[in-house]
Amino acid sequence: MTNFYTEAYAEPTKEMREAGTYAPVGNSLIGDDPSTKALLERAADFLGKEAALFMSSGTMCNEVAVRAHTRPGQEVICEKSCHIINFECGGPAAISGAMIHSIEGDRGMFTADQLSEAIRSGNPYLPQTGLVTVEQTANMAGGAIWPLEQLRKVANTAKQANIPTHMDGARLINAVVASGHPASEMTKGYDSVYMDFCKALNCPVGAVLAGSKEFIQEAWRIRQMIGGGIRRTGMLAAMANYALDHHVDRINEDHQLAQYIGERVGNIKGVASVEPVETNIVIIDFDPAGPAAPEIVAKLKENNVLVGAFGKYRIRVVTFMGRTLKDGEILCSELDKVLNG
Ligand SMILES: *Cc1c(COP(=O)(O)O)cnc(C)c1O
Repeated sequence: MTNFYTEAYAEPTKEMREAGTYAPVGNSLIGDDPSTKALLERAADFLGKEAALFMSSGTMCNEVAVRAHTRPGQEVICEKSCHIINFECGGPAAISGAMIHSIEGDRGMFTADQLSEAIRSGNPYLPQTGLVTVEQTANMAGGAIWPLEQLRKVANTAKQANIPTHMDGARLINAVVASGHPASEMTKGYDSVYMDFCKALNCPVGAVLAGSKEFIQEAWRIRQMIGGGIRRTGMLAAMANYALDHHVDRINEDHQLAQYIGERVGNIKGVASVEPVETNIVIIDFDPAGPAAPEIVAKLKENNVLVGAFGKYRIRVVTFMGRTLKDGEILCSELDKVLNG
C-alpha cells in the first residue's frame, strides 16, 4: 500500500523500539523516572518553557490546557478549521464547560486585528474570553506556517487583554525544520504549548505539554483527574528522546516530497488547485465537474494508494517517514489515471 493518509502509519524504527525497550524506567507519575525526566527537561528547554508534562496524546494536551486556563462559561478563541474545534469530540464543552468562539482566518491563521475584534470585554452580560489558541502548523490549511511576526502580534494582543494563550504544536517541529526558526522563538509569549511525538517524529505514543511551573502543576492535577497519568512512561519517553536525536533533520525529506507531489499533481487535468505546500501536507482541490473526493479516495484505494478525503472535492496527502520519491510518483500517476483514465 502506498500510504499518504496520516503520520500515524509511520513505522517506528528498530533502533527506536530498542531505545524504548531497554530504557531505564521508574514511577513517572511522581517525577521519579530517569527517561521521562530527561525528555521533559529537554522538551521544556526546546519549547522555551519552565516545565513540561508527558501525555498519551495531543488531544489530551490540548484539552488539559483548555481546562487549566479557563473557567466554565468562558470562551476559547480558535480558528475555525482547528483540531480543537473539529476533532476533539467537543472536549472544551464536556471537559471544561467552555464555549468556542471561532474566527474564520486565512489558511488556518487569524490576525491580531481579528483577535482584537473577537475578544469580549466590558459588558457583564457577555461571556468572558478565557483563552486564545493557535495551531502551528495549520493542519486543515495544508500545513501552513504561522509567521513569527503574526504569532507575536496575536500573543501580544491576548496579553494586553490579560487572556492566556495556548499553541497546538502537533506539527510545530515541521514549522521549525521548514522555517529554521527555533521552537522557543515560535512559542515566545504563549503560556502553554504542546508538541507531538507521533506525527513527524514517528513515535508510537507521546506528546508533551509545556508551560510555567505553576501551569504544569495544575495540568498534572487535571491529567490525573481524567485518568491520563501513566506510571511508567520511561519507555515511551526514551523513544521520544531517540526521535529528537535522530528524526528531526530527516523531516526535510518529508517536506521535499510534499513539494514534489504538490508540483506534479498541480499539472494533472481535473485538479482545480493545490494549496501552497509549506511543510508535509498537500491539500488538493478537484474540479467539481469531475468525481467527488470520496470516490477519488475509494478508487485510489482500490489501486493501493491511501489518502484522506477532506471535503467534497478536497483530499489531503501527508508525507512522513518511510515515504519515498517512488511512492510520490505512484500517487501522482494513479491519481492521473483515476481522473483521466
Ligand atoms: C494530530 C493532531 C492533534 C492531536 O493529536 P493526537 O495525538 O492524535 O491526539 C492535535 N492537533 C493537531 C493539529 C493535530 O494534527
